[in-house]
Amino acid sequence: MTVRKILIAGNWKMNWGPGSVAEVDLVRRGADDLSGVELSIHPPAVFACKVAERLAGSAVRLGGQDCHWEPSGARTGDVSAGMWAEVGAAFVIVGHSERRADHGESNAVVAAKAASVQAVGLTPIVCVGETLAERQDGRTLEVIGRQLDESVPDSILNQPLVLAYEPVWAIGSGLTPTPQQIIDVHASMRAALAGRAADLGPGVRLLYGGSVKPSNAAELLALPEVNGALVGGASLKAADFLAIAAAAPM
Ligand code: PEP
Repeated sequence: MTVRKILIAGNWKMNWGPGSVAEVDLVRRGADDLSGVELSIHPPAVFACKVAERLAGSAVRLGGQDCHWEPSGARTGDVSAGMWAEVGAAFVIVGHSERRADHGESNAVVAAKAASVQAVGLTPIVCVGETLAERQDGRTLEVIGRQLDESVPDSILNQPLVLAYEPVWAIGSGLTPTPQQIIDVHASMRAALAGRAADLGPGVRLLYGGSVKPSNAAELLALPEVNGALVGGASLKAADFLAIAAAAPM
């Protein structure tokens, strides 16, 4: 049987304030009681070293929110996967819907980024998800299937990988899909992976993301084929982030 340790990843997005270091310290301390769950914090890139310092020696992982697909060079404003590796990150999120929307990132770009993350020995967290219009048109599974095919080619499936299903309309909105809607998407993702690489796909963790909070975490994390959560807003407060992690079935 494949054992997939639950991963709770905190995407801090473009948020940082005077209390942020203290929140990192609180997560670090709280994680001692949560050894059955893996935790990661994804701060804005400029604060990565500071967070890495605070997490040194703890089980809480550092993660990036994005990277360029090239290893170095004339790419103003970007950071490479190798740079994330150098500051001690374990994961890099790629293909978040905010990157896809704000920066016009295509599935091909997302695949190139994921490959660059794996090339330096880190694990990409590749995000997929439908818009509200796509869901209302009954196209959710088709959209997710295409994103998976094109953002996660077989070469990427061969190496450490996490996938996150994040309905665009659930991110930051307080809305979540029904349990059955999440079950349907995660089952279709698992089936798609199994169809492509029966011996490799089973190890891939499938996260759910979109308005996960302490009050809904237990229900969401107990759903079949939900192997963790990608958490935005609720990851900024250590107490909420830890409460979500504590709600995971262990
Ligand atoms: C996200 O942006 O990855 C996310 C899930 O955000 P939120 O939890 O705030 O909906």
